[in-house]
Amino acid sequence: MTRRIAIVGAGQSGLPMALGLQARGYDITLLSNRTPEDMRRGKVLSSQCMFDATLQIERDLGLNQWEKECPPVEGIGLAVPHPEQRGAKVIDWAAPLDKYAQAVDQRIKMPGWMELFMQRGGRLRFQDAGIDDLETLAEENDLVLVTAGKGDIVKLFERDADKSMFDKPQRALALTYVRGMKPRTPFSRVCFNLIPGIGEYFVFPALTTTGPCEIMVFEGVPGGPMDCWRDVKTPQEHLAKSRWILDTFLPWEAERCTHVELTDDNGILAGSFAPTIRKPIGRLPSGRTVLGLGDAVCVNDPITGQGSNNATRAFKVYYDSILARGDAAFDDAWKQATFDQFWSYAKDVVRWTNSLLTPPPPHVLKLLGAAGEIPSLASLITNNFNDPPRYFPWWMDPAEADALLSRHAGAEAVA
Ligand SMILES: Cc1cc2nc3c(=O)[nH]c(=O)nc-3n(C[C@H](O)[C@H](O)[C@H](O)COP(=O)(O)OP(=O)(O)OC[C@H]3O[C@@H](n4cnc5c(N)ncnc54)[C@H](O)[C@@H]3O)c2cc1C
Repeated sequence: MTRRIAIVGAGQSGLPMALGLQARGYDITLLSNRTPEDMRRGKVLSSQCMFDATLQIERDLGLNQWEKECPPVEGIGLAVPHPEQRGAKVIDWAAPLDKYAQAVDQRIKMPGWMELFMQRGGRLRFQDAGIDDLETLAEENDLVLVTAGKGDIVKLFERDADKSMFDKPQRALALTYVRGMKPRTPFSRVCFNLIPGIGEYFVFPALTTTGPCEIMVFEGVPGGPMDCWRDVKTPQEHLAKSRWILDTFLPWEAERCTHVELTDDNGILAGSFAPTIRKPIGRLPSGRTVLGLGDAVCVNDPITGQGSNNATRAFKVYYDSILARGDAAFDDAWKQATFDQFWSYAKDVVRWTNSLLTPPPPHVLKLLGAAGEIPSLASLITNNFNDPPRYFPWWMDPAEADALLSRHAGAEAVA
């Protein structure tokens, strides 16, 4: 018998789920509170840089339509400004990724995937789902997945206080999509700049609705000088504020921006949210349950660029688990076990991401500094963005960090 599955939210995790299950013969109902046109004409919501492991998940499903067009992100670099000497850096290195990363504007990707789902006969309803809608969906379907990102509906899932390190936003966030920036050579990269006590700025190439661009991401420590977006009213003021941050704190990044302009008036965003882990099973008033997927139950600060990557990893775990379930019931034990399998990976991503929101301990600073002298260490730190659990145990353990450093320094000396 054909299994019926409802998916609430057409984003980074919901759409691959809808398209993947559709291709396997499942009867899918997808709900989105925005139409493809709303998304295309709307504001940017993310910088959505994805690394090879998650790009591969999309490739395997034939969902890499923009891969040839999208500029590759070929490496990662880190710079930390000198506290007293303007323009000098205490840390400055870059290393190539073994395989490139890419960021396709969600204003291109999500409408494209929605239209593909509809072209293939999919049932897509444009509706801002509330609890009553979830009740109806739960009655009519074998499984309801809530993939509504940061939408209000996700409050149905109880915050997991044991797994959530913070209860308020840790950064004032802003995005600025621009063109005309001087490229980094000899390889393109995420240029990650860490300004102690003030915030972070990272920037990398991407594909937006008007073509190739660079996405600037600002992360300001609350109450500090980069927590500065409240009075910004117009797109041009937003660009001017972005330039002000670079002129003030990161002159080597400002120097790349002499000729930048916004990609479009919607290529900007400012806001904040608390990184939060929620319990994966949502109980409706009737007693029926729904399962949360993606940001709905695991939302991280963007500082490590892992949100879309996590959402895609979670999608793959859930997708395989649905297929493996065959005709058996999607009961609460299965729902919990499916989330737990994802969490066995995600817990380290969350710990690593959260660790970067607090001042780094001495052993992490030592490793980040040493990577400037030891290319193999820089390569390790860079490539682990593709699989963050590999930062453990040494990211959290000074003795393990020293051992890692000795191994890399020793290998360097022999070479
Ligand atoms: C500033 C910023 C920068 C980021 N940069 C990166 C990065 O570089 N790399 C990275 O990997 N991640 C990044 N992310 C995170 C990433 O964008 C998200 O983690 C990812 O999109 C989550 O996927 P999702 O499927 O859970 O939710 P989303 O992609 O947010 O999709 C949820 C969808 O559900 C819809 N919806 C909400 N409520 C309802 C409802 N009631 N009914 C119907 N539909 C509903 C929403 O409109 C939306 O379309 C960034 C996020 C921010 C804020």
